[in-house]
Amino acid sequence: MIPLPVDAHLNYGPMRMSLYTLAPGLTVMSEVFRDDLQGVYSRSQDTILIDRSMTYTRKRCTLVHELVHRMYQDEGHEREHRCRLMTARLLISPTEYALAERIYEGERFQMAEELNVTPEVIDDYREYLHDSGMLL
Ligand SMILES: [Zn+2]
Repeated sequence: MIPLPVDAHLNYGPMRMSLYTLAPGLTVMSEVFRDDLQGVYSRSQDTILIDRSMTYTRKRCTLVHELVHRMYQDEGHEREHRCRLMTARLLISPTEYALAERIYEGERFQMAEELNVTPEVIDDYREYLHDSGMLL
C-alpha cells in the first residue's frame, strides 16, 4: 500500500502544490469532463484526472478519493465502497464532526459546508460510524 502522500485536511490548491514535491511520480491533471465523472485514477500511468468545473470543496474531496484509490493501487473506481469510506475518514476529524453535528443538529448540508466536504462525504462518514458501531 502506498501511503497518502499529503495531509487530507489541506485545501485543494495547497494539496496539489504539496503533491509536486511529496509525490513526484504522480501526475495530477484537470480538464472538463463530458460525463458526470468527477475524477479518475490510472494505476498504469500513475495519473489522477480531476474535473475542473467543480467547486474547490468538491475538487478537494475528489482528489483525496483518487489518492485513496492510488493508496490501494485500485484501477479506476475499483473497490469503490472501501475507497469512499476511507476517503470520508481521512477528510473528516471525529472531533470536528461531533461539534458540527451538535451545532447544526445533524443537518447534512450545513455540516458539509462547515467541514469543507460534500454532502456525500457526510453520508459516507455516517455509514462508517454506523458500520463501526459508533452510531446506532
Ligand atoms: Zn472511486
